[in-house]
Amino acid sequence: LSRSTFFLVGLLALTPVWALPEALSTVAERSGFQRTGRYDEVPALCQAFAKQWPDSVRWETFGHSPEGRPLLAMVVSRSGTLDPAVAQSRGLPVLMVQGGIHAGEIDGKDAGFWALRDLLEKDDPLLKKVIIVFVPVFNVDGHERFGPWNRPNQSGPEEMGWRVTSQNLNLNRDYAKADSKEMLAMLGLLKTWDPILYVDLHATNGAQFQPDIALLVEPRFVGDTALMPATRAMQLETIDRLRAQGSMPLDFYPSARDHQDPSSGFVLGANTARFSTGYWPLRNRMAMLVETHSWKDYPIRVKITRNTIVALAELTARDGAEWLAAAARADENAQSLAGQPVALTFKADESKPSTLEFPGYAYQRPDSAISGAKATIFDPATPQVWRVPFYDIVMPNLVVSAPRAGYLVPASHASWLGEKLTAHGIAFRTLTQGQGSRPLEVFRAQEVKFSSKPVEGHMTANVRGAWSTENHSLPPGSLFVPIDQPKARLLMTLLEPEVPDSFAGWGFFNAHFEQKEYMEEYVAEQVAADMLATDPDLKARFEQRLRDDPEFARDPAARLDFFYRRHPSWDNRWNLYPVMRTQVAPDPKVSHQDG
Ligand SMILES: [Zn+2]
Repeated sequence: LSRSTFFLVGLLALTPVWALPEALSTVAERSGFQRTGRYDEVPALCQAFAKQWPDSVRWETFGHSPEGRPLLAMVVSRSGTLDPAVAQSRGLPVLMVQGGIHAGEIDGKDAGFWALRDLLEKDDPLLKKVIIVFVPVFNVDGHERFGPWNRPNQSGPEEMGWRVTSQNLNLNRDYAKADSKEMLAMLGLLKTWDPILYVDLHATNGAQFQPDIALLVEPRFVGDTALMPATRAMQLETIDRLRAQGSMPLDFYPSARDHQDPSSGFVLGANTARFSTGYWPLRNRMAMLVETHSWKDYPIRVKITRNTIVALAELTARDGAEWLAAAARADENAQSLAGQPVALTFKADESKPSTLEFPGYAYQRPDSAISGAKATIFDPATPQVWRVPFYDIVMPNLVVSAPRAGYLVPASHASWLGEKLTAHGIAFRTLTQGQGSRPLEVFRAQEVKFSSKPVEGHMTANVRGAWSTENHSLPPGSLFVPIDQPKARLLMTLLEPEVPDSFAGWGFFNAHFEQKEYMEEYVAEQVAADMLATDPDLKARFEQRLRDDPEFARDPAARLDFFYRRHPSWDNRWNLYPVMRTQVAPDPKVSHQDG
């Protein structure tokens, strides 16, 4: 289908605008999906929905943005309860649908109000079996940075919000590190509702091609296997339903391996904990990333997003009880990971691509006088099958054995780290008495590479090293984070320093990788002379090194450092990651429960 045919099909399928009570319709609907509303329509719509269906709709403010805007969620159900505690005790599945984490990709806001109004108007029986929590706009400050040129790679609406927050943070990189006020509020909402399925609605960037939507799910690669079959089945059935409604859906994110060159093919990947879809599976629940294709016109994108929400509501109502049972098994499995190998990062096997026949468009790659490189020019009027490599085998990359008992956070880092753990719903205990010297597992970094520029405001640290056993003591106020809890995979991801999305990976422990004390060269000179005079074995090793390692022999600082590193004044805590692991849980009598 050409783009214009798609457009006509889309328009014919829209609800006639004149049939809508105005208070329940969006600016988008009233403008034929040429425009989208400003944020003030969101509280107005929430109020109008709750007024129209008082028994089935309520709305709440779950936090405020840095600029003071309320973060709103609309709760919809005809199960007889709109209360999270009652929902949990009755085993009602909760579907959470989130729009506008990237506020320029605002399809989800307009699609969500449309889908929910349709379900409520026809009194759909599915609403008796599910609770839907709809967050129309997550990035509310970004939504109000409104303008016509905020999405240069997207077709409509006429004006839209901005990708990141008023603090210039990308919320879909903030799940694990939880820096922003918005994310802390969202983690609170997730803790309250504990949705079995969390759906994050976006529009893509990237090349031009025929498919109009991509649905990615986890646990597929990330997380516990107990949830994988149901999650994959949910993804494939949603795809079938969308295809039956005229869409061309994908089950992977279609960004070319070389972004500018479609012939480079596609890589399957697992999202990491900074993303919604990488984070929520670590809490043993299902997540879906929905990406409409940004070059489809806005009316079509909203329609497809609406169809996706309705399909997911139907599947949650039908299968939610089964999903909750699988999630409970995953929670149980997570509590017995102690001592087991746990895959914490994943990567595609780049050695064995299959061949994918991908429904693209004809394109050319002429030399560009403008860039001096190849340009890509798509011809969306001419469908063309791209036969391209597809790197579709995803394998565990970093695998770490879980500690036997848990992690120990020293008192020096207990305050900020305890707050983060609490926000993530991770249980821990505070040691009321200190712990004398005893064998603990410590991580000494052998290599730390810092990012050369900030990433989300952080100088990230690529840490390499190993755990080994040493004797250490701990002061009172230190934290014990037990491994035997449902969020074991999440806490390992946050506390294992080699994981890029851990606190160490995000740079929260960078100060521990800086050398803080030095020996003056003239002092080192004297120290070295004394050591050489009194330690013949050291003298032999030094001379051996001079013969074997010409680079060392040419480096005056390295030659002096050889002695400083072996001297009692050397800082034994440089490159020591301060969080430790223990094989024995501290006595519960000398700790109290937090988090
Ligand atoms: Zn996005």
